[in-house]
Amino acid sequence: MFSDLDGSLLDHYSYSFDAALPAVNALEELDIPLILVSSKTRAEILAVREQLANRHPFIVENGAAVFVPQRYFPVQPAATVLRDGYWVWETAPSRSRWLELLAALAVEFPSSFEYFHRAGVNGIMQMTGLSAVQATRANSREYSEPVKWFGGPQEELRFIEHLRESGASVVKGGRFLSVSGDCDKGRALRWLRDCYQALTPDRPVDDIAIGDSANDCRMLEAARTALLIRSPVHDFPPLARVDGVMRSQLPGPQGWAEGVSKWAQLNPLST
Ligand SMILES: [Mg+2]
Repeated sequence: MFSDLDGSLLDHYSYSFDAALPAVNALEELDIPLILVSSKTRAEILAVREQLANRHPFIVENGAAVFVPQRYFPVQPAATVLRDGYWVWETAPSRSRWLELLAALAVEFPSSFEYFHRAGVNGIMQMTGLSAVQATRANSREYSEPVKWFGGPQEELRFIEHLRESGASVVKGGRFLSVSGDCDKGRALRWLRDCYQALTPDRPVDDIAIGDSANDCRMLEAARTALLIRSPVHDFPPLARVDGVMRSQLPGPQGWAEGVSKWAQLNPLST
């Protein structure tokens, strides 16, 4: 099971996952791995993962890298590097590349946008409502940079076009534009699913992806089942697929629990 955090497992406003906790614990008892997939950084995801007592791999910064705890699988997956006790599969260039690009664009788009590195911990706290500790984690990025847009929609399109012409990939999340390399949650999902599939070659892995925003779409398209979580601030993102799509009635972690329970009832033997 692959799940987005903000607006899905975590409440859009309070970042709380309490309403989903019974469903999270039920999954663990059923031996269904819950993979956290987020635009968040490794440090941020590790904090949530610890609170959830989650021991599974996780996907950081919109799919830029997959972190697999060392020895989680019997064999180290190909193309991974060992770092800080994790087998890491990386797909994207480092953050510094995007910081240079944004500094250059600040000349043409003055006061139309802000980004985490320039805002600093205090600025991030103002933009997100995070605490100082949380804002520090959010700023410890390795592969991408969140940008808050303040200008008009036409200007935003031009801004995004500039970024893309310079080789950046730009994904619109619930609150921020994420500027990164060519990575997506769907590719990371497929790679990690292949790792699990290698454990049970005779039985196809059944998976579900859970998300609420446009940056979840590739992951939602890649999984066998897609669970769209209702957002209090925007519509469901459009999906190309029609089959195997569930939409929650409730928002955030309430909708997460609702959808996961429904999925578990429909797929009683899933792992
Ligand atoms: Mg989200």
